[in-house]
Amino acid sequence: MKFYSTNLRSPQVSFRDAVLHGMPADHGLYMPVTVPEIDAEIIRKLPGMQLGEIAHTIGKLWLSEDIPDSELQEIAYESINFDAPLIEVEKNIYSLELFHGPTHAFKDFGARFMARTMAYLQQEADQETVILVATSGDTGSAVANGFLGVPGIYVVLLYPSGKVSNLQEKQITTLDRNITALEINGTFDDCQMLVKQAFMDEDLNDIMHLTSANSINIARLLPQSFYYFYAYGQAAAFEKPVIFSVPSGNFGNLCGGLLAKKMGLPVRKFIAATNANNIFPNYILKGDFKPTASVKTISNAMDVGNPSNFPRILEIYNNNHSQVKNDIEAQAYSDFITKKTIRNVYEKNKYLLCPHSAIGYLGISDLMMDTEEDCTGIFLATAHPAKFFNVIHEFLDVDIPFPAGLKSVLNKNKESIFMESDYTDFKEFLIRAGWRKG
Ligand SMILES: *Cc1c(COP(=O)(O)O)cnc(C)c1O
Repeated sequence: MKFYSTNLRSPQVSFRDAVLHGMPADHGLYMPVTVPEIDAEIIRKLPGMQLGEIAHTIGKLWLSEDIPDSELQEIAYESINFDAPLIEVEKNIYSLELFHGPTHAFKDFGARFMARTMAYLQQEADQETVILVATSGDTGSAVANGFLGVPGIYVVLLYPSGKVSNLQEKQITTLDRNITALEINGTFDDCQMLVKQAFMDEDLNDIMHLTSANSINIARLLPQSFYYFYAYGQAAAFEKPVIFSVPSGNFGNLCGGLLAKKMGLPVRKFIAATNANNIFPNYILKGDFKPTASVKTISNAMDVGNPSNFPRILEIYNNNHSQVKNDIEAQAYSDFITKKTIRNVYEKNKYLLCPHSAIGYLGISDLMMDTEEDCTGIFLATAHPAKFFNVIHEFLDVDIPFPAGLKSVLNKNKESIFMESDYTDFKEFLIRAGWRKG
């Protein structure tokens, strides 16, 4: 499988190069030259398949030329070693719980698959790989956990000081070993900017092997299609058209679903649900894409003013706004309505939503009210509510059971390096660390 750059000014590369370099030299995003189609036979078998088996089956369609089958099987089963149950919340509305991995957010899927893929692909290269990650909260801990203890790989996390929850911060800053956390005096977009600058810095790239692990890395994108197949398999028994609502920030999660549909998964429609950062809903409405600075909300993992996967969505739909609109509806929701929804759904259905998942729920419940057709509505529940207990406790008096993994991290001590949002400082830090290129 070959990958091309969405900017079309860099050559096509193998999966290996796309994964290890993260971003093409022309600063576009890697996309597959062809999208493999799944057999109707596989779709028929989905209801009986476990998630790891689906990961292996779908992964094979993409990567059979690049990774031997036995290795791929190991990568698939080891990275996706937790469940994603489909839970009925109310009539025709289901929560696809993507938060049963080690860091309790959906990013575990992409991060764990990517970490194992990268470790396999760089086995022979005798060099140290430095992974730069800008994180608005959940990405960092998922990626860092995925790579924790992997020999020859060093992870540098950049997170915006004071803009992630206490728990998220603890998850990022207590890992140690091959993981370093930089606390940046700025926004998430500033962090992302520093990382982008480092990738474009030729001097720096001559000295060390830098790569990205943000949602732009293709090895994170592919596994984010697996759970759409799994959810479809679980919903097949209802024999109704399936709609997915995806709470979105950088739109990597939604892109995974769009690829699944392009491969042949029968999805009726997608809903891109956002918080007040409504760049994509505005694009759907008006046809132009106008990135802005991000605004702070209670669903902070979605506080993105310039969604990084947008060019991929355009590629999937041949740069055609009306084709995009055919498959994707979009809606933005305020913090006020998000809180109200968490309260209502808890009181009505005894189901507790995190602020991100609540936006997914809002997207599907609004759409179901507007459609005549009898459909199965699935929203992606992207984080465990316990990760946001401090936000939720401000407006809802509820006992939130903590998964064991989250409880233990709270008692550890934070270790981070504070830094201004200044590229010279960042570069100096990287050079001083002295990571070695092969
Ligand atoms: C990252 C994240 C999102 C947004 O996902 P994208 O792929 O960036 O659109 C939503 N919810 C949670 C909990 C997240 O961590």
